[in-house]
Amino acid sequence: MHPFSYTRAANTRQALDAGRAGGRYIAGGTTLVDLMRETVERPRTIVDISALPLREIMVTRRGGLRIGALVRMSEAAAHRGVRALYPVISQALELSASAQLRNMATIGGNIMQRTRCTYFRDVTAACNKREPGSGCAALHGVNRTHAILGTSDDCVATHPSDAAVAFTALEATVHLLGPDGERTVPFADFLLRPGSTPNREQALRKGELITSVEIPALPRPLQSGYLKVRDRQSYEFALTSAAVALHIRGGVIHEAKVAAGGVGTVPWKLPAVERELIGQRPSNVLWTKAAERAADGARPLRHNRFKVELLNGPSSANCAS
Ligand code: SF4
Repeated sequence: MHPFSYTRAANTRQALDAGRAGGRYIAGGTTLVDLMRETVERPRTIVDISALPLREIMVTRRGGLRIGALVRMSEAAAHRGVRALYPVISQALELSASAQLRNMATIGGNIMQRTRCTYFRDVTAACNKREPGSGCAALHGVNRTHAILGTSDDCVATHPSDAAVAFTALEATVHLLGPDGERTVPFADFLLRPGSTPNREQALRKGELITSVEIPALPRPLQSGYLKVRDRQSYEFALTSAAVALHIRGGVIHEAKVAAGGVGTVPWKLPAVERELIGQRPSNVLWTKAAERAADGARPLRHNRFKVELLNGPSSANCAS
């Protein structure tokens, strides 16, 4: 680990001043400390923001939900309001990482976590995300767990967060506070596709903090859930996952919010699937037909063509190319 200095912000002003001076924010530390140990990350100063008042979960006036950035994953997953209004968020959180990690990691940190691409974490490998311009060892290496959607010639790494898939499906908003004041960014614009700058992962400006994630009010009743396929049933990242929320009234789907995880360089919203569902009556035939649109635009790599089949469902197993 490289030498670094540690400072603990007693209030938001102190945090922003330290962030503007180049400090890296840390709360649960479950990603950053690992990466510092591996020398992938080498911050000169880390700024502990865990004392800031960002731990509240509240129902908004319009009936949505606002989750403070420093709420622990386990707290958000167990919260009555989250469970009642958006079970898809609770389920995504509970299927993430391990109980110990969920007790430490925060919501803000969860969406800021960096890719699990093994080449990114191996400082001897070429990696444009870690060392811009050095190449991408995954493109022609072992790329079974990598992305098939949103990739570029410079990076094919997936975003690892499960909660971010639920936030993408539900069209959440990220609230930010920086030296120039507050602003909000749609979740879909917050996490960046790699393009030619995979080292740039979020739409954060220098010194900005995530203060909360807001989920908009959606028509009720709303049925939602999170399905995750992985190599083992615990403490493992998604090969493919789906966050789905449906508003069904009079036997017809009036609203559909769908996103996939484990397949995109960012959590992947599926508007074509949503369009297939809206206005239709739920049935197995409909689910199959809608799922056939889930891999639209996919560019599988040498080892991860099976992700197309996971997205499209069993009916595609013999025809995915
Ligand atoms: Fe690095 Fe991205 Fe290539 Fe992985 S996929 S080696 S993170 S550039």
